[in-house]
Amino acid sequence: MIIGGLQKTTLIDYPGKIAAIVFTSGCNMNCHYCYNPEMRNFSPKIAEEDFFDFLNRRKEKLDAVTITGGEPTVQADLGEFIQKIKDCGFLVKLDTNGTNPAVLKRLLEAKLVDYIAMDIKAPLEKYREVANCFVNETAIKDSIKLIIEHAPDYEFRTTIVKGQLGVEDIENIGKLIKGAKRHYSQKFMSTENLNDHAFEPMVGYSDDEMEKIKSIMAKYVKETFVR
Ligand code: SF4
Repeated sequence: MIIGGLQKTTLIDYPGKIAAIVFTSGCNMNCHYCYNPEMRNFSPKIAEEDFFDFLNRRKEKLDAVTITGGEPTVQADLGEFIQKIKDCGFLVKLDTNGTNPAVLKRLLEAKLVDYIAMDIKAPLEKYREVANCFVNETAIKDSIKLIIEHAPDYEFRTTIVKGQLGVEDIENIGKLIKGAKRHYSQKFMSTENLNDHAFEPMVGYSDDEMEKIKSIMAKYVKETFVR
């Protein structure tokens, strides 16, 4: 596994759990607003052995490990990596952009993931524009279906940039994940290190507007949140 970073503790990433976050390197999307552009490259920063040494020292303090990216499913040894984490006794949350449903299917069949968080970048017709790359929309739909039907627990989440996604797009995202358990609308916050510097002046919606977005999503999804 090519590991690009480690956050030793979080109380907010995995609902109800104390977790560490491991950042895998490499991603098959090219989102303008990506705030982790250095993670898009396959450059190792932490040896896998050192990561497992860390986990073994934290067995009493952590419940879970979140695997995020980049995009973890682009790495060939993801299943083996997760199995080693499970063998240490931790729950596993996987963050994904949903481009590799075959990988998700294998992980779910092997009961290797306890929680999946999948990004819904846009309604299908705008996926390539928002992801800023070729996207197989059928793969996105297949991942959504797999997660809704088979994940032990999950969330979908959408980062919403004003000017990129409008009310009609939110409505169509709701239709895309209709019947899902949980969706988070994530307010875009610009930083100085975005993948596309032209996006740095962009803004998110106001708190009031985010509440309206939440109420649109509530027509399609059981639990909706803003963060
Ligand atoms: S925001 Fe987009 S480009 Fe960045 S890691 Fe996530 S899917 Fe990849």
